[in-house]
Amino acid sequence: MSSAGVALFTNLVVAVLLASAFLAISFYDGRRAARWIALSYATGMAALSLEFVIAGFGASRPMVVVNFGGFLLATLFFNVGVARRIGARVPWALMGTLFGVSLLTTWLSADWTGHLFWGSVVYQLPYALMQWIGVGIIFSDRKRDRLDTMLGVVLAISGVQFLLKPVMKWLSGGLGQDPALYLESTYAVISLSMSAICALALALTMLAMFARDVLRDVTQRAEIDPMSGVLNRGGFARQVEMALRDAVAHGLPVSLVLADLDHFKQVNDTLGHASGDRVIEAFGTFIRSAGEHRLIAGRIGGEEFAMVLPGVNLAAARLFAETARSSFGSLAIAGLPIQRRFTASFGVAEGYPDEGLDSMLRRADEALYRAKAEGRNAVRTALPYVPDALGLASATGASPVVRRYRTSSSGAKR
Ligand code: GH3
Ligand code: MG
Ligand code: MG
Repeated sequence: MSSAGVALFTNLVVAVLLASAFLAISFYDGRRAARWIALSYATGMAALSLEFVIAGFGASRPMVVVNFGGFLLATLFFNVGVARRIGARVPWALMGTLFGVSLLTTWLSADWTGHLFWGSVVYQLPYALMQWIGVGIIFSDRKRDRLDTMLGVVLAISGVQFLLKPVMKWLSGGLGQDPALYLESTYAVISLSMSAICALALALTMLAMFARDVLRDVTQRAEIDPMSGVLNRGGFARQVEMALRDAVAHGLPVSLVLADLDHFKQVNDTLGHASGDRVIEAFGTFIRSAGEHRLIAGRIGGEEFAMVLPGVNLAAARLFAETARSSFGSLAIAGLPIQRRFTASFGVAEGYPDEGLDSMLRRADEALYRAKAEGRNAVRTALPYVPDALGLASATGASPVVRRYRTSSSGAKR
């Protein structure tokens, strides 16, 4: 076997392995993006196999076009996978048009593909264009992170690589050869190696992204409270620690709003536990939709919720809590008596740069205690932070562990 033959065979085996890897990942991938990538590598594999046939039996015009179309379809499927992964629109019309027009030009210029420089350019250009469409898909995604950008760059380089091929072919004296002798040429070794490196770099970046996606999904699921849809206590603490570090680093304010549903035992007693669950669920949905996108919301107890607002000071957080209080208080909850309304009390604290989450929770909790004691369905703001280094408590009032809310009328509760 010639060295290009060995390179071709290696590519084939690598394509099989990659297709299988992506197929395996697709079982964990809810958006089925990995299945498109698997299909992309499988299609590339089929097109590579055809090159062996061409080398053995000579290249007929249909075979050249099918071989060309196979690889182009592989790059098209790759783009579909890229778009599906990020939930972007798949540019079917654009890619379909490019695919159709390219098949036609390749059919018409098939006689010159191997002999003339421009013939070779006409053959390679569609691959570059198709991959650059992929680059466009990635860079038009506003939520892209570093790994996405890396994939975009690799894809752009891979596109350039296709345009380098005619130059390589020309420099290595490969122009003018019979396509059947392709596998004997130095150009074939260079070309196949370049493509293999690009295909492998793309696959590895993509694999890293899928691995990260799966990991992120699993972490997210473990941190979400299923009833309310907001973070559970662990997830909340983890995300808030990150947000606090970020706020300190950027010198931004950060506020905490604590909320506790009013007379909830009574809700359970009068309407039943299932209805109580409905109220908790509704409150979770409500705060998720009420907050701006940076809001971190968690269910930190049975009917207690905490919200961290990065970049928001005490006055703005208080306003947010007031709005939430009055909107929730007038909300009718589906499945519960139509005229029935539910209320919550709120405690608000703005964090200090050297203050941790525990201390913020303590201060907001003390404010919530006052909101409860002063009649419920109310918002109160926390006392200023006093560092523990001075040997004083962080704030006056009860700790969150041993808390006693007092009703204005009936004395101590719970
Ligand atoms: P207030 O906060 O206004 O002082 O009164 P409360 O009745 O809400 O006070 P407390 O915190 O003592 O009671 C909370 C109740 O919430 C007790 C518990 O049975 C109920 N609860 C806790 N978790 C759940 C839950 O997941 N589902 C339902 N239905 N009830 C819950
Ligand atoms: Mg409570
Ligand atoms: Mg309560």
